[in-house]
Amino acid sequence: SEMQALTIAEKVHKGGAQIFRGGAFKPRTSPYAFQGLGEEGLKILAKVRDETGMPVVTEALDLDNFDAVEYYADIIQIGTRNMQNFSLLRRAGRSGKPIVLKRGMAATIDEWVMAAEYILAEGNDRVILCERGVLTFVHHSRNTLDISAVPYVRHESHLPIIVDPSHAGGRRDQVIPLSRAAIAGGAHGIMVEVHHKPEQAASDGAQSLYPEQFEKLYLQVA
Ligand code: PEP
Ligand code: MN
Repeated sequence: SEMQALTIAEKVHKGGAQIFRGGAFKPRTSPYAFQGLGEEGLKILAKVRDETGMPVVTEALDLDNFDAVEYYADIIQIGTRNMQNFSLLRRAGRSGKPIVLKRGMAATIDEWVMAAEYILAEGNDRVILCERGVLTFVHHSRNTLDISAVPYVRHESHLPIIVDPSHAGGRRDQVIPLSRAAIAGGAHGIMVEVHHKPEQAASDGAQSLYPEQFEKLYLQVA
């Protein structure tokens, strides 16, 4: 809700966050799960920007909602499930806004870098790569954070790379150690989910840090 977003934004801003990410259009595994608030969610994000001064990033799920996302957001996210949605990538390449391109959950780094190339080839040179974990056989984490992707991308590409330890670990207790590992490995930034009442979160509460944890983490990695 607007109240939840503003509450969390104020806390993370105070704790050191520089950019705010929230999902208005949510890519959910089940069509019956919360799908996001759509345009109303975009307006909430705009309000967060107005009240805190933080730029906002949110996901464009498909071509249908791209224009609306582009209008409200400062940075547009393309999620793991769309990493090789080439028409969406081309549309992102014609945008004047920076793009966060998350790694496909089963994509090689060469496929990921080539996906970024689809955006660059259309003329948008502001692409941020985001490692968010890949599917493996293990059950102790939601995905497996591929830390070695960070030095590899830094060597092979000129693009900045950030890490999303929240969707990688999928569990609150893994987010801080994975964040630290990402920064130690050379990531240019991290993107972390935070909620002051995670049991009320409509999505991903189990992996959301409490604001106090975020503040401590920020001091460790800044
Ligand atoms: C997200 O960052 O909101 C998200 C859904 O992540 P991913 O695309 O990595 O699953
Ligand atoms: Mn999430």
